[in-house]
Formats: sequence, C-alpha cells, structure tokens
Amino acid sequence: MTVLVLVEHGGGQASDPSLQALTLARSFGRPVHALLIGTTVDLSQHGVAVAHVAEHEGLDAYAPEAWAAILGQLSDRLEAVAVFAAGTERGNEVMARVAARMSLPFAANCTSVNPGPPVTVTRLRWGGSLLEEARLHAARALITVAPHTVAIQPAALESQVDKFTPQLTVEELAVRVVEHVSASGGGVSLAEAKVVVSGGRGVGSKEGFAMIEELAGLLGGAVGCSRAVTSAGWRPHTDQVGQTGTKVAPDVYIACGISGATQHMAGCKGAKRILAINSDGQAPIMLNADYTVVGDLKEIVPAISAEIRKSRP
Ligand SMILES: Cc1cc2nc3c(=O)[nH]c(=O)nc-3n(C[C@H](O)[C@H](O)[C@H](O)COP(=O)(O)OP(=O)(O)OC[C@H]3O[C@@H](n4cnc5c(N)ncnc54)[C@H](O)[C@@H]3O)c2cc1C
Repeated sequence: MTVLVLVEHGGGQASDPSLQALTLARSFGRPVHALLIGTTVDLSQHGVAVAHVAEHEGLDAYAPEAWAAILGQLSDRLEAVAVFAAGTERGNEVMARVAARMSLPFAANCTSVNPGPPVTVTRLRWGGSLLEEARLHAARALITVAPHTVAIQPAALESQVDKFTPQLTVEELAVRVVEHVSASGGGVSLAEAKVVVSGGRGVGSKEGFAMIEELAGLLGGAVGCSRAVTSAGWRPHTDQVGQTGTKVAPDVYIACGISGATQHMAGCKGAKRILAINSDGQAPIMLNADYTVVGDLKEIVPAISAEIRKSRP
C-alpha cells in the first residue's frame, strides 16, 4: 500500500508545487512513490522510495489524457491508497481525468490531509475565501495540493528508479501540446517571478502601463494586472492575477491602483510581502498589505523608479 505523487518538472528540477505535494503526501505515513513523465529528476531530499519514470515517444510534450492513463495504471499496479498532484492547471486537469476514468472522488486544492479512515482534507473553496473540510469515502483518494500553502520539508531518502514504457492508445495521445509561444518575448514568467508589479483600474489606460513595465524591468520582475484591466483590453489575459488568472507567489508583490477584491487576492496571497499603492487608504488591499503608500500611483511609481535608477551606478 503506497501513496503515489505526480511530479511535474522542468529544467531538470521538480517544480516547487510538486515538492509541496510530496511533503503533504508523506503525512499519510506510507511509502511515497513518484511518477515522473519523460525524464528523471533528483528527488533524494524529498522522501521518495521509488521514482517511476514513464518513457514513451509520444510523451515529449504535455498530453493530459495520456498522463491520466499512466497515473491511473500505476496507481492500480501499486495499489495506492492515495494519489497526489500539485494544484496547478496541469495537476488539476490530469487528476480530474483520472477521477473520471476511474470513478473516484477528487478533492482539489487541499491544504492539509488526515489519512483517516475516512481520508479527511481541508481545501480552498471560492478562491480561497472559504476553507472546507471534506471526507473522501473511497478505496483511493485523489488529492491536489493548493500551491504555496504547504512549506517544503526536506526528507533524505535514496530513491530507486523504475523506468517503464506505458501502453498508450492513439486516442490518449490525441490531445497534446504541439507548440509553446512566449507571451512576453522571453521575459520573466509571471508565475515564477520573484517580484511582480501589478496594475489595476487605477493605472487609467493601456499607455499607463509603461510606468508599471519600467518599474518591473528595474526590479527584474514581471508585470501583472487585475481583471478590470484585462476586461478593458489594456493587458492580455495571460497577465491577469487572481482566481481566474495566474496564482503568483513572489517575494514581493507591488499592487498599484488595485482595490484588492477577494478574487484578486486569491491570486497573490502567496506573496511573501505585499506593497500596495492606492489613493484610497481604506481600499481592502491596504488591510491585506505589509506596506502601504496612500497617494496617486502616477506620481509614486515613477518616483520609486527614479530612486532605483539613482541608487545604481
Ligand atoms: C467569478 C469572478 C472571478 C474574478 N476573477 C478575478 C481575477 O482573477 N482577478 C482579478 O483581479 N479580479 C477578478 N474578478 C474581478 C474582481 O471582483 C474585481 O472586480 C477586480 O479585481 C477589480 O479590479 P481593480 O482592483 O483593478 O479595480 P477597482 O476595484 O475599480 O479598483 C481600482 C483601485 O484603484 C485605486 N485608484 C484609482 N486611481 C488611482 C490612482 N491614480 N492612484 C492610486 N490608486 C488609484 C482605487 O482607489 C481603487 O482601489 C473576478 C470577479 C468574479 C465575479
């Protein structure tokens, strides 16, 4: 009886949300096995007993139904009592497909788990404004872990590596990524940036984002925005932070002219520090921020950029 974790990886490393999922999976107190698609990565510090590496010529790109088929087959072979994945777009998509294929209950975006029986989870609902306790009555629980809600705990264990070739049908490989198009010409990705400078309706116009871009550029960060901005067509949807946008977890999140609606905060509350610049000192984001500046962003943002320039040789 094992616990199986789907581990997403890139650039030769497991993703942080997958390492968070491995940490939570260990709380089951069972041997933890990992599934890696395509290639192996070092998991020796994450308590993985066996790393199963699925190798197949059709798996050079993301193929959700194929990943779900492999995860389902492996969980049967290992008689896994629980299957975990990161609560990323891919993790949730693959796990939903596993649930549908195997008629099993699936709890998405969990923050804690008790192996029970029955397995009990706490999970984020309504963009994180509600914590729900749920019980999963099934021989196998399918669980994704809300990104950045669990701290990665190292656990040294030498993993065995089991390479295998899964049996996949043409139908399972029909949906797959065939091309990647960079939205921002190769800049820092919003989801992984250490600094995010975000603009809201208060920026006032598409052109107003020049000062947001300037500050983000000086800090080596990425530009984000609120839904009011994408709805107005000032920025593409790929820049949107929030419940229906990207979830970010930078060291610093600078919110300029953003009111701080629940749906926006759902995307940025993983930030270590929030700096809010708003002309309304009573805006909700001012209550959630670590640092606040009350004033007109059109004066404050260029002033910060000017100070940064001055401080550099
Ligand atoms: C189902 C659903 C999903 C949603 N998903 C998302 C989501 O993913 N992301 C998201 O962001 N929203 C989302 N929303 C929308 C959300 O509810 C808010 O409407 C949106 O976040 C508001 O954007 P905003 O803060 O830019 O605009 P506003 O709420 O209009 O706030 C503008 C702020 O700018 C300030 N301001 C104005 N002028 C200046 C100035 N010159 N200097 C400084 N400050 C100034 C104002 O004081 C105000 O606080 C969703 C809504 C629903 C119903």
